[in-house]
Amino acid sequence: MSDIVDLYQEIILDHSKYPKNFGQLAKKTHQALGKNPLCGDMLSLELKIANGKIDDIAFVGDGCAISKASASLMTEFVKNKTIEEAKNILEDFVKMLTTDDQVMDLGKLQILSGVKDFPLRVKCATLAWQALKAALLNEIKE
Ligand code: ZN
Repeated sequence: MSDIVDLYQEIILDHSKYPKNFGQLAKKTHQALGKNPLCGDMLSLELKIANGKIDDIAFVGDGCAISKASASLMTEFVKNKTIEEAKNILEDFVKMLTTDDQVMDLGKLQILSGVKDFPLRVKCATLAWQALKAALLNEIKE
């Protein structure tokens, strides 16, 4: 069991040190800011959505390892997904961390399920996902 915990910690540290999709998009259609004052995590999330699909996604920000790793994993998981698919993943991820409800197989995202036992950390792990929810509703008018 401790081997698995070590592996999970390694993946989280790796994603926080070398986050995926870190940066800004040249062309974005949706955006949102996320802040978790309890921990000092913040991020700015940008999406490029076309024909109901997330073509591109990127974030910049700073925070604890959990918040950064969760943001990195989130971008990896929803990129090239339809809005509906992204919403389903988003809902089940938040459910996994805040309820005992059965959720779909979330693959690598399940490494963050241990955060559930640390209520303050749940806000760190869900920050990027709340930003995604906000961004999907916040189309940039040009
Ligand atoms: Zn945090």
